[in-house]
Amino acid sequence: MIRINKWFPEEMAEKYAETMAKKIMKKICENDSVYRSIRPEIRKAVFEDDNGEVSKPRLKRFLSVPLHELQEDKEFKDFFEAYKEGRYASDGIAEIINYSMLSDDLRHNLLASLNVSVCPYCNRQYITTWEKTADEKRTTADLDHFYPKSQYPLYALCLFNFIPSCHICNSLMKGAKTDEAVYPYAENFGDDAYFTVNGDKEDKAYCRNLLRIWRGEKDAPISVRIYVNPAADPEKKKRIDNSVRIFHLNEVYQSHEAYVRELLVKKRIYGEGAYSDTMEALFKKIELPYTACELERFLYGFCWMEGEDPERALSKLTYDIVKR
Ligand SMILES: [Zn+2]
Repeated sequence: MIRINKWFPEEMAEKYAETMAKKIMKKICENDSVYRSIRPEIRKAVFEDDNGEVSKPRLKRFLSVPLHELQEDKEFKDFFEAYKEGRYASDGIAEIINYSMLSDDLRHNLLASLNVSVCPYCNRQYITTWEKTADEKRTTADLDHFYPKSQYPLYALCLFNFIPSCHICNSLMKGAKTDEAVYPYAENFGDDAYFTVNGDKEDKAYCRNLLRIWRGEKDAPISVRIYVNPAADPEKKKRIDNSVRIFHLNEVYQSHEAYVRELLVKKRIYGEGAYSDTMEALFKKIELPYTACELERFLYGFCWMEGEDPERALSKLTYDIVKR
């Protein structure tokens, strides 16, 4: 639901494409009959130059281009459809392009280079990166294939098919289906889907009830749900619905009910202005220059001016509850 704003650094993408293209070309040399068994339209689009020769630059481009850009190409759009419908299920591509060809070290270095700190699918779990040696990094991120490698073997090594995700989203939630969800390299939920709580916040009784809601009293429960804007683009709406379903977002976010209760009370109290006035006066007194964004961060723990904060867990939830 959160966009991956910083893509792979150019140097890392180049290193990856060069390393994997070499390995794939070696496979092709060793298994000419298997290579020839691959559909001619795929060989032509992915591996070969205009003279019909296997071309490293061509293959490197295929490995490193973002998939939403690849899909703009009619030929590749057709391949995606064919794999999705199972029409290409029996091709020999998995013998030439296989995820097992990616070493552990390169996988860790790749994911670490993205600097993603929170799982983009759920925005709940932190991802941690550390340096094992000067040029070797490690990360707690799982590598999720957005287009599952079992169904879309052609894309098993495409750089932008790799989503750094938490273990829960990668293994426990999704099964094998992310291909119809929101693609984190290109989009997020944004204003098209947001967290809401039951109850009319303008209603006086609701405001009087806040303290009871905060205490979690049994007759004042709250329910946290994702509201999908019916005016959103129908195709995007479908992808959002799929993300909510695949990652069980409504269910897992209900466990943050106590946090939401606190936010509602903070919003009500801070909204009166007295607390932020005091904070401003305090900042001035200690001569600490601050921006409006920093003041918000101090009050709520997040910087709202920039919208959701991809570096903090629950930032989308917090933004939606406090600012909408
Ligand atoms: Zn996750």
